[in-house]
Amino acid sequence: MNHLHRLAELADRTGSVEAARDEYLARLDADDGLAVLTIPADAIVAAAEARRTRAASRCGRCGARLPAKRHRCSRCGLSAK
Ligand SMILES: [Zn+2]
Repeated sequence: MNHLHRLAELADRTGSVEAARDEYLARLDADDGLAVLTIPADAIVAAAEARRTRAASRCGRCGARLPAKRHRCSRCGLSAK
């Protein structure tokens, strides 16, 4: 998992990109911290949104991930709404 994914996860949990960045930076050494500071807030917001979208599109029966445009689960065949 890369920095962006972790930040997106934290942003979701804390409700704010700034809070997520602060919390994440507190765990990192200087090199990683510097890399995290170069990630724009927009990218974190976009990743957090993508993450929520992905979380929403799971098969209701077997829990398999459904691609955004897929309307039928490829694992169990259940039709998505
Ligand atoms: Zn399924």
